[in-house]
Amino acid sequence: MFAATLAYGQAVVIRTSTLLDGKGHVLKNTDLTIEGGRIARIGAAKGKAAIDLTGMTVMPGWIDTHVHATWYFNRDGRLEQGGRGAKSTPQQAALSAAANLYATLMGGFTTVQSLGAELEGDLRAQIAAGALAGPRLLTSLRQVSETTGDAGQIREYVRKMKADGADVVKLFATASIRDGGKMTMTPEQITAACGEATAQGLRSVVHAHSPDGARAAVMAGCTAIEHGTFLDDATLELMAARGVYFDPNFLVLHNYLENKPRFLGIGNYNEEGFAAMEKGLPLVAEVLKRARAHHVKVVLGTDGVAGAHGRNAEEFIYRVKEGGDTPMDALTSGASVAAESLGMADRIGAIAVGMQADLVAVEGDPLADITAVRRVAFVMKGGKVYRYGR
Ligand SMILES: [Zn+2]
Repeated sequence: MFAATLAYGQAVVIRTSTLLDGKGHVLKNTDLTIEGGRIARIGAAKGKAAIDLTGMTVMPGWIDTHVHATWYFNRDGRLEQGGRGAKSTPQQAALSAAANLYATLMGGFTTVQSLGAELEGDLRAQIAAGALAGPRLLTSLRQVSETTGDAGQIREYVRKMKADGADVVKLFATASIRDGGKMTMTPEQITAACGEATAQGLRSVVHAHSPDGARAAVMAGCTAIEHGTFLDDATLELMAARGVYFDPNFLVLHNYLENKPRFLGIGNYNEEGFAAMEKGLPLVAEVLKRARAHHVKVVLGTDGVAGAHGRNAEEFIYRVKEGGDTPMDALTSGASVAAESLGMADRIGAIAVGMQADLVAVEGDPLADITAVRRVAFVMKGGKVYRYGR
């Protein structure tokens, strides 16, 4: 086993034959030297490599900008979120969330943004301390919606989020796609949420299906639009001009449809809602294509809920097979573009000297066959190996 060749504290050399740098470039037959949890050197290293990833495709650890780490299926196989849904204990809910994050890391994702639940603050601390195995975790802790209050109350709420340690503000400018996706917050409420986020030095990411809700959020200075199913060209054009990131999500809809019995009958997970999601899929594909045509910055996010954790990489496959992305564009969305959207481009999302040693390796060539992202064989985060082998 490789560990026998590693001495504590010493630099580790990783040999690669194909390496994608996360910014659209391919490097052939190069070594990575890892020191102090970072990439210290790229290029031929002296001596024997401690870790040999030749024959695989090595990439920066993947980034998912939209998950729900605390959603899980209870013992009856039904959806629960955090404490909600009475079947499981708070302890079971917490363990399920930890298990979700473990599965996500093993699936090649070394950073995720969860949007958001209170428990994520504790999970973030445990992961950062090295006590739990999981991806670097960013969280909104809470969510802002039309029921949060008037503009003044929303500003206060956002200040409290900041004080409680939120990394980002999440708001619902429109309804769920299951309820038609119409604008729900007033422009004043949206301006308060995004404006106060900016004032507090936080990014704001906005759930928006309809163009009016998205447009109000963009005008209010939000940093990312989630879903965007019904966005028109004018709104996409405005997003491109303002540098607002776009995060269309396929996996969430496929996951709901595949796991329908586990959700059906809970809240708006009714027959009408499922029909709306089925109709939404081709629209997501279409809006992603138009977003690319308008040169909007597209990030990778799954909106990963119960059933999707650990399968986040399926989003890459849907982006290519349904959304028309090139494999390189899809992979870059989940690397440097996602890192930039999180304000972390100086640390993660690319393979470059000085960056965190976050790596994922897959068997096969995802540029030729994107389904190679399912064959994760190696995961390193901050220089620590979490997975080595299928
Ligand atoms: Zn979501």
